[in-house]
Amino acid sequence: MYAHKPNVPTNNSIMIEMMKSTQRLFCSLFLLVLVTVQAFPQQQTPNVVLVYFDDLGYGDLGITGAVGYQTPNMDQMAREGMFFSHYYSPQAVCTASRAGVMTGAYPNRLGLSGALDHRAQIGLHLDEETIADILKANGYATAAFGKWHLGHLPQFLPRKQGFDEFYGIPYSNDMWPNHPTNKNYYPELPLIENETVVERNPDQRQFTTTFTEKSLDFIDRNKSNPFFLYLAHPMPHVPLFVSDKFAGKSGQGLYGDVIMELDWSIGQIRAKLKELGLEENTLVIVTSDNGPWLNYGNHAGSTGGLREGKGTSFEGGQRVPALMSWKGTIPAGTVCNNLASSIDLLPTIAALTGASLPSKQIDGVDISELLRGDFSKYPRESFLYYYRRNSLEAVRKGDWKLVFPHPGRTYEGFSPGKDGQPGVAYENHFFEGGLYDLRRDPGERYNMRGYYPEIEAELFEIAVTAREDLGDDLTNSPGKNRREPGRAAE
Ligand code: MG
Repeated sequence: MYAHKPNVPTNNSIMIEMMKSTQRLFCSLFLLVLVTVQAFPQQQTPNVVLVYFDDLGYGDLGITGAVGYQTPNMDQMAREGMFFSHYYSPQAVCTASRAGVMTGAYPNRLGLSGALDHRAQIGLHLDEETIADILKANGYATAAFGKWHLGHLPQFLPRKQGFDEFYGIPYSNDMWPNHPTNKNYYPELPLIENETVVERNPDQRQFTTTFTEKSLDFIDRNKSNPFFLYLAHPMPHVPLFVSDKFAGKSGQGLYGDVIMELDWSIGQIRAKLKELGLEENTLVIVTSDNGPWLNYGNHAGSTGGLREGKGTSFEGGQRVPALMSWKGTIPAGTVCNNLASSIDLLPTIAALTGASLPSKQIDGVDISELLRGDFSKYPRESFLYYYRRNSLEAVRKGDWKLVFPHPGRTYEGFSPGKDGQPGVAYENHFFEGGLYDLRRDPGERYNMRGYYPEIEAELFEIAVTAREDLGDDLTNSPGKNRREPGRAAE
């Protein structure tokens, strides 16, 4: 008969058991992964949306005192995120400001100043690393819509600076044949898709709508992967244009209508992020490149009472409103009074996404602690106010600002413009300078020179260091660490 077969596993049964347990292990792992994915649906590094308005003033939002119209979407963003009340443009003019925000460096470090036009043979050097460059290297989809202004030649357009796609204008929207004081000096304004001109003198009434729709489409297309959207609205820079949706809607005329449409744009983008479930994984930043162009009168914005405006290193030129939201990370309804600047965005975004910092020296600092609501931290202690190529016109530390004697633009005492025609802005006014306490005197009216010698000495020391590093035309200091812009001939 059969001999008792002891229950000794054969090689085959061992194999079968091993396969079964491996299957069980894989099943368990799969379930674990599934549960983890469902519990933490957004483990990817955050998306970044940066909206950069053109010439929007500090006082142009409902929450900063706008008169005659409402900005419900931006006010809502402030309630759900953070408003920065001491936030600075890198420099108070278009090209320079954009060079700063894109690279995290003072624009004069990069050899860029003023506003490049259609004759410019320079642009942002391709060796400079932009926010788009460092995020693209980490697998982000990147897009720029609206105004570029860092070199109009094809070799300087956004796709050469880290962006996958571009749709917009190469420089300001007033650089066209209808310029109010330079008639027929500028060629027809090109609308460019990537590097191809798709239209000349496009209907500017559609700008805000079109660039918003491009942005919504980009977000839709990239909802499943990390993305960086740079929406640089050409408005509210003159000439002002608004679509039929908002024409005549404000009680304040065309300027108010334009701001209402820009506010609508912010609402559209935030609604899209909500619809796609991306609110908790997207940092949204809304700010302006510089203060209002005051000599355009009723077509200019408001500084909210700050001194002077665009093209000056006074607060009305440099201090801009800034809103940031990121559900679950940025505490809702907070106001950050600590010093910060758009040059801080690149290092902050790098810290939040794990992207590498540029290899070249930059000036921005990581302000992510502020975004998380820790206002006991002061990542940025001082700010340098440069304007007119490489003139160090003022320095700020803490509450104090020391303004050096300098020639500059003033809007005071001259007739304002009207309905798109500029009034006079005197370009060579001599400012005596002064020491101002921005806590008590945000309007820079009361010169405190001589009353606080220790504070003055400290601010002077910051200027001495800055002159050695970046140079200063006012004191004929060349500076050791300035770089060249990109040149067409190279
Ligand atoms: Mg501007």
